Amino acid sequence: MEMFDTHAHLNWREDYKEDIDAVLTNAKNEGVKHIMLASSTIEDSEISLQLRKMKQDCGVKLSCMVGVHPETAQTFDEEAKYRLEEWLKHKDELGIVAVGEIGMDYHYDDASPVHEATAFIYQMGLAYRYDLPAVIHERDACEDTLFILRSLHEQHVLREVPGVLHCFSGSPETAEILLKMGFYLGFDGPITFKNARKAPDVIRMCPIDRLLVETDSPYMAPVPHRGHRNEPAYVRYVVEEMARIKEIPAEEMARITTENARRLFGKDT
Ligand SMILES: [Zn+2]
Repeated sequence: MEMFDTHAHLNWREDYKEDIDAVLTNAKNEGVKHIMLASSTIEDSEISLQLRKMKQDCGVKLSCMVGVHPETAQTFDEEAKYRLEEWLKHKDELGIVAVGEIGMDYHYDDASPVHEATAFIYQMGLAYRYDLPAVIHERDACEDTLFILRSLHEQHVLREVPGVLHCFSGSPETAEILLKMGFYLGFDGPITFKNARKAPDVIRMCPIDRLLVETDSPYMAPVPHRGHRNEPAYVRYVVEEMARIKEIPAEEMARITTENARRLFGKDT
């Protein structure tokens, strides 16, 4: 199987400092051809860019996203805007294929809703100006996220293919709205959990050419690794579960989700 893990925080050094090379080798041996390095802060984005450069010969293609996550939206200042813009001007040389992860998260109150919305809208603007898809994180903030995305859509400042709702946890109704706007939906380890309900329903209704697989490593490890550190090699369990839900062979699902990711993130992937 050839797979594409569209979301992995391999730049979190505490989690992978001992064995990053082994983690990349495991991924390669499992058939993972491509990993999108996820970023949450400016420092994080910087490490993603360095990691990609350092590991260019690891046998797995690495691409980057740069952006500031809603939980750290209070750090989104003039300096952050400047750094992002400097990177985005050189996106092709740096292997940047998306702006992310950005979005809205009311689960923790680390940043105020106003800070979050400001950072989110600004970075959606960057994605539009630099013609890149956005990788969007949404947790317990569905209504406001949809409100912002709809407003951008109405003002014609949303790309035709605006990006992906990563680790999608919304309802089929919400999925319907996002799919109409052109979004892809990304799924992770939790779809393999026994109590998964909403996600399988969404996967069933979602057109197969809009599905992406991801690990969100080091979090969200799928069964049979639930509760342990996650890594891109385990994306196969997500592919297998998604294939089971869609009632197609796993190889077929691997091929389709890889094609989907390549289409979304551009010719360089
Ligand atoms: Zn993430």
